[in-house]
Amino acid sequence: MVRSMPSALTYEPVAQCSTTRARAATLHLPHGPVQLPMFMPVATQASLKGLTYEQLEDTGCRLCLNNTYHLGLKPGQATLDAVGGAHKLQGWSHNILTGKTVVGRSSRSPALTGHTDDWTRFQMVSLLKLAKVTEEGVRFLSPHDGTPMLLTPEHSISLQNSIGSDIIMQLDDVIATTSPDHARIKEATERSIRWLDRCIEAHKYPERQNLFCIIQGGLDLELRRKCCEEMVARDTPGIAIGGLSGGEAKEAYCSVVKECTALLPENKPRYVMGVGYPEDLVVSVALGADMFDCVWPTRTARFGNALTSGGVLNLRRVAYANDFSPIEEGCVCTCCRPREEGGLGITKAFIYHVASKETSAAHLLTMHNVQFQISLMESVRKSIIEDQFPQFLRDFFLKLYPNKKYPEWVVGALEGVGVQLA
Ligand SMILES: [Zn+2]
Repeated sequence: MVRSMPSALTYEPVAQCSTTRARAATLHLPHGPVQLPMFMPVATQASLKGLTYEQLEDTGCRLCLNNTYHLGLKPGQATLDAVGGAHKLQGWSHNILTGKTVVGRSSRSPALTGHTDDWTRFQMVSLLKLAKVTEEGVRFLSPHDGTPMLLTPEHSISLQNSIGSDIIMQLDDVIATTSPDHARIKEATERSIRWLDRCIEAHKYPERQNLFCIIQGGLDLELRRKCCEEMVARDTPGIAIGGLSGGEAKEAYCSVVKECTALLPENKPRYVMGVGYPEDLVVSVALGADMFDCVWPTRTARFGNALTSGGVLNLRRVAYANDFSPIEEGCVCTCCRPREEGGLGITKAFIYHVASKETSAAHLLTMHNVQFQISLMESVRKSIIEDQFPQFLRDFFLKLYPNKKYPEWVVGALEGVGVQLA
């Protein structure tokens, strides 16, 4: 049965790009407003290691991801209930989004992306070797200690109700987009719709926590359309497009995002899961998406990689040994900001020389990379409001590819929404 559910958010449109599908909005959530489009850092112990919640707050972040599994295992549901949820437990007064994901290594080919290390969301995809999915739920071995676990839609929602997150995600059945097993992809899509109904039924606090559905369907546009239609009818406060960023060709990724955003209601936030490369973010905004998350910007910091408007710099390279400029000129992060402006005034050379002492370099780069993503999305938003987003895209890609050898998928995707790069 299709029914309407209460919502604990307000989507307030601010501007619409007159060329592309990009939108700027203010999303009013239980722990304060957030500005869309936005990037959400993943604040698990594993990926934000060394970054305090104060530092996260300093970046302008007002919505971060927490991991349902991590919190469910430690401190556990009983403690969460006793403390009154994750906000109080962690001393974070802003918004939290929880999902079922844990963090791990993706199988995405570095050759495909040009990035040397490649961490994305460890969706159920990566657990499948260990997991068995039935109509009941997902059985898997705990990545912590090998204990057999069963995650049902009801249990997933119950845990997220105890966590008290502002946005909670449905349990879905995720198949790698690269899977050749079409029958299984179809089954997973249909099951995700049935599981959404169970999640809606199990959700105890719809008036203070926003449940987002997750559209599945692999790379099959017909399946994606059907899934959109079914899930939109369930009227959840927000909508996620899931199962992507699993190694599919970028052209295929863009087709799915574009197909889905065309079918989604104008008055709800659209969250594309597991997307974090700066070029993917800006193209996805042009295709009509609003919210993104990825562990890559924080994970890649461990390998000495800094995000800049000119591309990713590996500060372990000897070329930076005597480079006394900041990681990015004009960056407002604590690491790059000059000392006279209250920052640390860190140089590339400094990072190079401490890079062997991994934790301090990783800590500084994590701060910078999170700030880079948040500032990038603030610039995107500003350009949408000024209706200069097509020019923003041209400037952004010219900085990244000064020789104008733009990736074909970028050129194609942007042409599809009316923007010529060349
Ligand atoms: Zn910086």
